[in-house]
Amino acid sequence: MKLRVNEIFTSFQGEGRNVGMPCTFLRLAFCNLHCTWCDTYFAWNWGDGKEKKWNRPTVEMNKEVHDLETSEVAAQLEKLATQNLVITGGEPTLQQLALIELLGKKRPARLKWIEMETNGTIPLSPALIELVDQFNCSPKLSHSDNSKLRCAPNVLRAHQASGKTCFKFVIESRADLTEVKSIVEKNKLTNVYLMPLGRTKADQNARMPEVAEIARENGWHVTPRLHILMYGDTRKT
Ligand code: SF4
Repeated sequence: MKLRVNEIFTSFQGEGRNVGMPCTFLRLAFCNLHCTWCDTYFAWNWGDGKEKKWNRPTVEMNKEVHDLETSEVAAQLEKLATQNLVITGGEPTLQQLALIELLGKKRPARLKWIEMETNGTIPLSPALIELVDQFNCSPKLSHSDNSKLRCAPNVLRAHQASGKTCFKFVIESRADLTEVKSIVEKNKLTNVYLMPLGRTKADQNARMPEVAEIARENGWHVTPRLHILMYGDTRKT
């Protein structure tokens, strides 16, 4: 079975509970959303590479998508991997059957910890839940400029019930608090993290004090975007 891969590289987990953890990233291509501030547009925003769509640059699909057998991906992870793997995107849950094969039958022996990033809109297969140690679910708020499809309460509740999910909200300003509170309370979410919106160090530093204050008031965690602070808005970091 093939995975549609965008890129594989080693770096540090930049966000959430395990920020700073050395890891290999497996970035899968394609996404079902189109966030207006997405910094991984090169995994899904197909076009001629000159025009913009969804307020983001476009990239040529045939240059960014690599169709690889799960055994080829496993071999690359064996060579590159730390013992930690972060599967990201795009939206990785679009490729669950191939991921189940990679993490099950083809699982690289050296992997000890597997995290998966997701936007929380697509139901998870029970087999995938078994194979992944931690899900980092980032429900999108209205400032992402997606349609109402961005919020799937049944999926968020299934994540919460799995006992394996941290929920991470991207915060532009205090005006987002009402929406975050509504999602958290309606779906009884725990392990909530707030993270400043921003693709530059300046944006991160400017928003962090207010985001930290909102988190403190509500008993939630706060997370930086460590890779932005360390490397700026660059690829494979
Ligand atoms: S869900 Fe994630 S990958 Fe998809 S457009 Fe939004 S930020 Fe980008």
